[in-house]
Amino acid sequence: MINFLDLKESYKELETELDVAVLRASRSGWYIGGSEVETFEHNFAEYTQAKHCVGVASGLDALVLALRALDIGCGDEVIVPSHTYIATWLAISAVGAIPVPVEPVSGNFNLDAVSAEAFITPRTKALLPVHLYGVPADMHAICLLAKKYGLVVIEDGAQAHGAKVRGEPIGQHGDVVAWSFYPGKNLGALGDAGAVTTNNTDIANRIRKLGNYGSSVKYFNEERGINSRLDPIQAAVLDVKLKYLDAWNMRRQKIAQRYSQALADLPLVLPQIPDWAISAWHLFVITTPERDLLQAHITKAGIQTMIHYPVPPHRQVAYHDLGLKQGSLPIAERYANELLSLPVGPQMSMQDVEAVIAVIKDYYSRG
Ligand SMILES: *Cc1c(COP(=O)(O)O)cnc(C)c1O
Repeated sequence: MINFLDLKESYKELETELDVAVLRASRSGWYIGGSEVETFEHNFAEYTQAKHCVGVASGLDALVLALRALDIGCGDEVIVPSHTYIATWLAISAVGAIPVPVEPVSGNFNLDAVSAEAFITPRTKALLPVHLYGVPADMHAICLLAKKYGLVVIEDGAQAHGAKVRGEPIGQHGDVVAWSFYPGKNLGALGDAGAVTTNNTDIANRIRKLGNYGSSVKYFNEERGINSRLDPIQAAVLDVKLKYLDAWNMRRQKIAQRYSQALADLPLVLPQIPDWAISAWHLFVITTPERDLLQAHITKAGIQTMIHYPVPPHRQVAYHDLGLKQGSLPIAERYANELLSLPVGPQMSMQDVEAVIAVIKDYYSRG
């Protein structure tokens, strides 16, 4: 049996260090905020070369708080990829704004700036690119477009810890980046956690306030905020794992390179990384119209694969009221039917990688 991602193995590799960190936080007597949170925020800001990092409770909250801090609300339009995890859309809806989906272009899964321009209206307030699967969106083109129309740029970095755009980390381009530390992400906690990074001090302060009941001085509330803070135990865990992020991303890259090389001659579309980008290789996603048959064949061999994602946001019951019928966003819909994510993770052995490759080759050799 080859698991899609083995989180138990991730824990085991760092067990001693993680246990020390969890115990330290447990014994500190300080369970909201405090030095564990401050240390991680400082180190993650440094890692992303951002001026500020504010820890929050989840990636979804990070997006919601970023939108609120930028005054995006009722009736505002936010341009978002048609093909993403639904959380990106849900954050926009949560602040009363309207997600305006833009289809990706061939060979890419991310927001395309050229296509996006046609969807800008006087009500458009923000662009919300997602660095999907760890592949950075074209931030130069997106930021040029934002500048031309006076829009803000909020990035969904949930899948892209460690990704780079022309040598620079994610976060040096837009106004705010929302990060998730959901356990399965490249930098994952032992539970829910998230953060925002920004170079703008006012935005950072506002997000910290909004995530703390709208209060910066205890019992004095300037805004109607929420409770969304980074748990100190999770901060302690994340600070341990942050030190290994680059090394673990390198292992992912090695697996991705081997897949790309070994599967190159098969009738599959493989991930395409622009030459200016470094992917965090959160996922290795292939595309084929034979997806269901191929997946069944791989499953039969005891190898777990996944589909990211089987139903695009606009076809979810949750977005029924947008009236976006079948066929309205054909690329996102086709991806939902054709994408397949192969196992990739820092603890995956090259022997298992070869086993996955062999099973896929076997599928095609049978015709
Ligand atoms: C995981 C994820 C989120 C949400 O993060 P949570 O921490 O689970 O709330 C948002 N956007 C994308 C693209 C994600 O992959």
